[in-house]
Amino acid sequence: MPNCPECTAREKKKIQVKYEEETPEEERGREDLFKLFDEIDIPMKMDEKNRRHFICKRCGLYATREEISDIRFKLNQKERTRDDKHDDYLEWWSKSKKEKVEN
Ligand SMILES: [Zn+2]
Repeated sequence: MPNCPECTAREKKKIQVKYEEETPEEERGREDLFKLFDEIDIPMKMDEKNRRHFICKRCGLYATREEISDIRFKLNQKERTRDDKHDDYLEWWSKSKKEKVEN
């Protein structure tokens, strides 16, 4: 099962903050951080009724595998550019969340 891209991104941020608090700057390494990132395990659950879709029990994200890669890509991009909060992704996300609640 794919990991939830939303929760993974949040978890990564937490891990990074903790790592930077606990590790002096000269001892920090990207490899160490990536190793910690690899341990993140937040698998989504397959929707029994619609097997192309996955759902995250933590945040309620509901998406196909393609959408999941898309979200992951956009989140990674956002991480790099540090865009402001009013981007397409967030609009799409709040929309999909709303649809989810209504269903
Ligand atoms: Zn999630």
